[in-house]
Amino acid sequence: MPSWQDAGLGTMKRVALWLVSEIGEGNTFTKEQLREAFPGVSQVDRRMRDLRDFGWKINTSREDAGLDSHEQRFVKPGDPVWEPGRATRKTGTSAIGAGRRREVLSKDGNMCRSCGITPGEIYAGTHEAAQLDIARREVVKPDGTRAIELVTECKRCRLGGQSLTADLAKVLQQAAGLNPIERRVLSDWIAANQRQFSRLEQIWSDYRSLPEASRVQLRAELGLR
Ligand SMILES: [Zn+2]
Repeated sequence: MPSWQDAGLGTMKRVALWLVSEIGEGNTFTKEQLREAFPGVSQVDRRMRDLRDFGWKINTSREDAGLDSHEQRFVKPGDPVWEPGRATRKTGTSAIGAGRRREVLSKDGNMCRSCGITPGEIYAGTHEAAQLDIARREVVKPDGTRAIELVTECKRCRLGGQSLTADLAKVLQQAAGLNPIERRVLSDWIAANQRQFSRLEQIWSDYRSLPEASRVQLRAELGLR
C-alpha cells in the first residue's frame, strides 16, 4: 500500500490511505484532524465524501446518533482506489454536466441517433412526443479497445422500443404503391424473414448511430471534414 503522504497521489486516494493507516476501521476522527493531515488542500471534505461512490462507509452524526456534529466514523473501507484503474467512476453514477450535454446534443444534430426523431416530434402511430436524452454507448475502436462515448438518443430508443401501434391498412396501402423493383426487394426480405441490408445501407446505418467522436473518424477516413 502506498503512503498517504505521497503527494503524487490524488487527494481522494490519499484520504483513503490516511483513513486506513492513521484512523483505522471503526474509529472516529474530527474534521480538524482531517484538515491538519492535509494542510492547504482544498475541498478535502468533499474528496472524502467522494469515497462513498466507491463503497467506503464513513458516518457523520446524521447516520450515527452516537457521534458529535464535528466527529465522523470510518466504518469500513470500500474499493482500494489507490490501485491503478480503481478510482474510475462506475458507468451511470457520474452525472453528465449541462455544458457537455448541450455539446453532445448540438454535435448530434439535435436528433436521436438511433431513430432520427427530434425533440417534440410525435412518434408514428402515437400521441407521444419525443424527448432526447444522452446515453453512454460502448464503442469498439479499430484497435480493439473499448470506450464509452456519449450519444443522443430518445427515451424510447433508450428503453428499447416499447409497444408500438401497428397500422395494417397503412402498410397494405404503402405496399400497393411500390414500383416493381421495390416490390421485388420487399418480397425477398419477406421471404427471407429479414431485411437484407446492402453494404452501403449497413454502413450508413452503423455510421448514423455512432457517437460524434467516432463519426468524425469515419469522415476523416473518407477525406471529409
Ligand atoms: Zn429514438
